Amino acid sequence: MKAVVISVGDELLSGRTLNTNLRTIAEFLARFGIPVVRNCTVRDDVEEIIKIMRETLESADIVIVSGGLGITVDDVTREAIARAMGVELVFDEDFYNEVEKRMLERGVKVTEEHKKYGLVPAGFELIKNDYGLAPGYFYEKDGKILLVLPGPPHELRNVLENAAEKFEGLTKKKVLVKTVKTFGLKESDIVERIKDVIEELKPIGSYPIIPGMVDLRLTLVGEDEEKLEKEMEKKLDILRERLGDAIYGYDDDTLPGVIGKILRSRGMTIATAESCTGGLVANYITDVSGSSDYFKGGVVSYWNEVKSGVLGVSDVILEHFGAVSEPTAVMMAEGVRKLLGTDVGISTTGIAGPTGGTPEKPVGLVYMGVSIRGKTFVLRKIFKGDRLMVKKQAALNLLDFLRRKLGEVQ
Ligand code: ATP
Ligand code: MG
Repeated sequence: MKAVVISVGDELLSGRTLNTNLRTIAEFLARFGIPVVRNCTVRDDVEEIIKIMRETLESADIVIVSGGLGITVDDVTREAIARAMGVELVFDEDFYNEVEKRMLERGVKVTEEHKKYGLVPAGFELIKNDYGLAPGYFYEKDGKILLVLPGPPHELRNVLENAAEKFEGLTKKKVLVKTVKTFGLKESDIVERIKDVIEELKPIGSYPIIPGMVDLRLTLVGEDEEKLEKEMEKKLDILRERLGDAIYGYDDDTLPGVIGKILRSRGMTIATAESCTGGLVANYITDVSGSSDYFKGGVVSYWNEVKSGVLGVSDVILEHFGAVSEPTAVMMAEGVRKLLGTDVGISTTGIAGPTGGTPEKPVGLVYMGVSIRGKTFVLRKIFKGDRLMVKKQAALNLLDFLRRKLGEVQ
């Protein structure tokens, strides 16, 4: 069984909106062992949608269409579906009454236009949308499935889940997916390390946030779940052996979450002293629920007088080496650890750009400090990219540096 996804919307083609619905749909179908083999993105144009639907319905077992189910003039998917399938749009009074009730509850001023919500392509089943007014439309005939979904991402997710039972049992196949999360290796480094087993593992790599932070996804399809799990363990062992401590977690693990677990298990506390990242490190740390167990607080020490006055970085160091320097990063990490009375202090100081660089200290140069109970380490890096990318890379590289140092210092 193979699926094709048709994404409808001018905003997808202009680049204003990233097609995240494709990811949601592909991940959903993967759970049932159904691969997406093609995606077509089309304009909000009836004729184009009809054309692509006719094409894909011929070749694919499953066609999923997303977007354009609203009631404004640019929303033409409902009409296109009906015409492509050669059916009428029928007004479903019961369903419309339900929608109208929801609109009145929400205080929406109901107009004639809203009646469009009651139009259903004949022969299609309605799939409930708990978050919006446009439902999903489901059609199945001769082993082919057509599912039409509203565009807003949270609504699309909800309607898909509400349609899940339609996909159960379509294939006997079981699917096992595992994501291995790594930090510190470029995709090409990873390929180099696993090139002799790449055919066997068939990993799919992606950069979730920044380069050097690579997720590797392994997918196994088969009929015997136990066998699949054993096979997956074998593959994971190979990756662990080849990638070593670049692996920081699996599946839903996050870098700040993993660090949180380490700190909590050791009963340690942490504080941040940030310059060029402006609080982003603290932001990542506090993305983790329960981080108040170990995160005491932080100082955004942008001005030198804050670095010296609050964190105790010596003026001599600031004058002699500059704010963006190894000794400053050291004194910031140690300073905040003492100031807030924590076991760990971490720091960033650098040039996020695009201005402020010099030949000796170019844009993207960042020093990251980690001070763990009196032992202090510094990582120096020059990051590429715009201001936001430099900040993100600095914050995440610091967190990974901390993870590794926590492994070394007991
Ligand atoms: P509405 O009733 O809100 O108009 P709709 O079903 O007509 O819903 P669209 O008009 O196509 O959906 O899109 C609604 C919103 O969802 C827009 O903000 C759009 O950018 C977003 N959206 C649509 N398609 C996608 C997609 N493939 N990926 C991510 N976001 C999308
Ligand atoms: Mg719309």
